[in-house]
Amino acid sequence: MEIIRSNSTKIVDVDFNSIKFGEIFTDHMFECNFKNGDWEAPVIRPYSSIDMDPSSHVFHYGQAVFEGMKGYKDTKDQIWLFRPKDNYERLKKSCVRMNIPVLPSEYFFKGLEKLVSLEKKWISNKPGSSLYIRPFVFSSSAMLAASPSLDYKFLIICSPGAAYYSKPLSVYVEDKYSRAAPGGAGYAKAAGNYGAAFYPTSLAISKGFDQIVWTDSESHQKIEEVGTMSIVFRLGEKLVTPKTSDTILDGVTRNSVIQAAKDQGIEVEERDITVSELISEFKSGNLREIFGCGTAAVIAPISSFGYKDERFEIREVENSYADSLKTSIVNIQQNLSEDSHGWRYKILD
Ligand SMILES: *Cc1c(COP(=O)(O)O)cnc(C)c1O
Repeated sequence: MEIIRSNSTKIVDVDFNSIKFGEIFTDHMFECNFKNGDWEAPVIRPYSSIDMDPSSHVFHYGQAVFEGMKGYKDTKDQIWLFRPKDNYERLKKSCVRMNIPVLPSEYFFKGLEKLVSLEKKWISNKPGSSLYIRPFVFSSSAMLAASPSLDYKFLIICSPGAAYYSKPLSVYVEDKYSRAAPGGAGYAKAAGNYGAAFYPTSLAISKGFDQIVWTDSESHQKIEEVGTMSIVFRLGEKLVTPKTSDTILDGVTRNSVIQAAKDQGIEVEERDITVSELISEFKSGNLREIFGCGTAAVIAPISSFGYKDERFEIREVENSYADSLKTSIVNIQQNLSEDSHGWRYKILD
């Protein structure tokens, strides 16, 4: 693969103690273009803006999907990714749903490895630090015909991240808007799913909440996800999380949490959970914890939820599952513990 190196680095201007998520990008990016029915030779080149025609297909019809994953540096300065094959498999599903051609896996993994290896000075081995990696692909033909784009651009960009602490969230159980519907694209990591979520989320924020708990589009009773994360409940000593479906995204963190819980001897049920069950479990004192899970935060505890005009505060528990599961996943990510499921993926120099 062709690699065009940047002749300068932005790293000297970065204050690693005060970086916010996704605002600073490393010196290089991976690029591969789909033209004339095939993927062209990929290249890694200096990070830069891209020139786009105002009629570019993505601006009008939004064929665009993305992925999110992280790289870590261990105490011996070795670099690891966490379950990138799962991200690639999901990317394929997202592309198929959005009628986007799939980047061949060898381009994806070679690109990822070369790019992350080139940017390794951007990863700190301070606990909690990581490199956020954003692969994405969008329709790039200059045309207004409402038909699939002929050209696509696939890029991978990287952003350094410091330890991410999320204060416990307060969430609003949505009873009007939907993130996804049966037969729709909710299971795909499609850009438009995010675009359509911002407005209902802004209404929830104006009511004093941080995020929305998405419910099924028909009855608004079955709980699906929270914000842009998978959702998990602790009822007594057991964990309950909705089964994945065409309206629920198959989260890599979700799957890791389920496995890590089983490894700790915690029972996990993947099944429907309704708002009325949630409220009755709350009232009986059996609802001990709620948390969201996703690549950015790993696990984000939720301390209260609102439904219609009521608000429910969850008492803090000792020995929280959210804490112990986060610790076990982070330890695997950062090569601080044994990786019995083969989740780490080593980046060679
Ligand atoms: C990305 C995403 C998640 C989390 O997936 P991870 O693979 O764990 O990062 C969950 N729900 C939605 C809607 C998402 O877009």
